[in-house]
Amino acid sequence: MRPCTDVDGNGLKRSPFATGLACKCPRCGQGRLFAGFLTVAERCTVCGLDLKKADSGDGPAVFIIFILGFLVVPLALWVESRFAPPLWLHMTIWPPVILGGALGLLRPMKGVMIVLQYRHQASESGAIDYDDNA
Ligand SMILES: [Zn+2]
Repeated sequence: MRPCTDVDGNGLKRSPFATGLACKCPRCGQGRLFAGFLTVAERCTVCGLDLKKADSGDGPAVFIIFILGFLVVPLALWVESRFAPPLWLHMTIWPPVILGGALGLLRPMKGVMIVLQYRHQASESGAIDYDDNA
């Protein structure tokens, strides 16, 4: 393993949002953050950061609820007022849109939350959970 920082090859600090959306390691920005769809890898394969301590909790789901609610509810109201489709058509259109949006956003939002927690050393206990010696 090689030493890693949160600075890229050009000496610029990596954006935690770009790193999280790309589902990359919060420390090096290169290793994979996830071992499955939403399962966080045990360690970064590039820098060896212990990712078992990463816990985003319900944070990603809350943001997704806000984002999808902000987008889908006005869109459904606009479709209703503009086209007045029957109820069965609403029931056919919106559940897949919401389900697809939620599944599509869950992984990148979880990545962003984990990277932000790492960058700000946030944890439930207030301690630095990512310290390799802890
Ligand atoms: Zn790493």
